This record gives sequence, C-alpha cells and structure tokens, in this order.
Amino acid sequence: MCVFCRIVKGETTSEIVYQDEEVTAFRDINPKAPTHILVVPNKHIRSLAYVEPEDTLLLGRLLQVAKALADQEGIGRTGYRLIMNCGYGAGQIVHHLHLHLLGGWDMG
Ligand code: 5GP
Ligand code: ZN
Repeated sequence: MCVFCRIVKGETTSEIVYQDEEVTAFRDINPKAPTHILVVPNKHIRSLAYVEPEDTLLLGRLLQVAKALADQEGIGRTGYRLIMNCGYGAGQIVHHLHLHLLGGWDMG
C-alpha cells in the first residue's frame, strides 16, 4: 500500500487537518512554504493521468477542500498556490494523486 493510502487509513502518523469519506488533507512532512498541505482522494489514483470520467466530482471536491483549508489557514484572501505534479517527468515522487496547497509567505 502506498504512503498516502496508509495516511488516509490512519496507519501511519501525519498531521491530518481534514478528512471525510472521499478526501483527506494533511501537512506535508517537508514543508516548502509556511502553509503546505496535501489534499488527496481517499481512493488510490496514481495521478491525473489515471483519472476516469467518474472521478470528475472527486476532482472538484479536492479543489473545494483546498479552498476551505486556505480560508482556515488564513490565506484565503492573501493568496496561495495549488500545484499538482503529474508523473516522473514533473517530479511526482508519491504516486497517489495529490494537490499541494502552498501559501503564507510574508509579502512585506
Ligand atoms: P510530489 O513531488 O509527489 O508532488 O510531492 C510529494 C510530497 O509528499 C512531498 O512534498 C513530500 O514532502 C511529501 N511526503 C512524502 N512522504 C510523506 C509522508 O510520509 N508524510 C507526509 N505528511 N508527507 C509526505
Ligand atoms: Zn495510495
């Protein structure tokens, strides 16, 4: 089982910030921004390259959860970045589809 599937199932420690029957979000173990959260579908999908038409609603839910978490983190208005790496050539290292939510930089 992949590392993100284990996190979804609570079989390994991680700081889960949101979970429902379809989506789990947790803090990245190696944060690259003050806020760095990974939003993943609970079901294992390797990457965007492997999504099916029936996953359309699920993809939308990932974005809705990311937006809600950005608000919760206090960066909803100041701004944030969403990144989804797809495949080895893009630097995807964990092959369980995930959205990076990054923000909280000091703009001063
Ligand atoms: P990718 O390059 O695949 O888009 O990004 C994978 C991300 O997962 C990286 O930012 C990495 O730090 C994070 N990551 C890898 N393993 C773990 C883990 O076991 N727990 C958590 N919380 N994050 C992880
Ligand atoms: Zn998985």
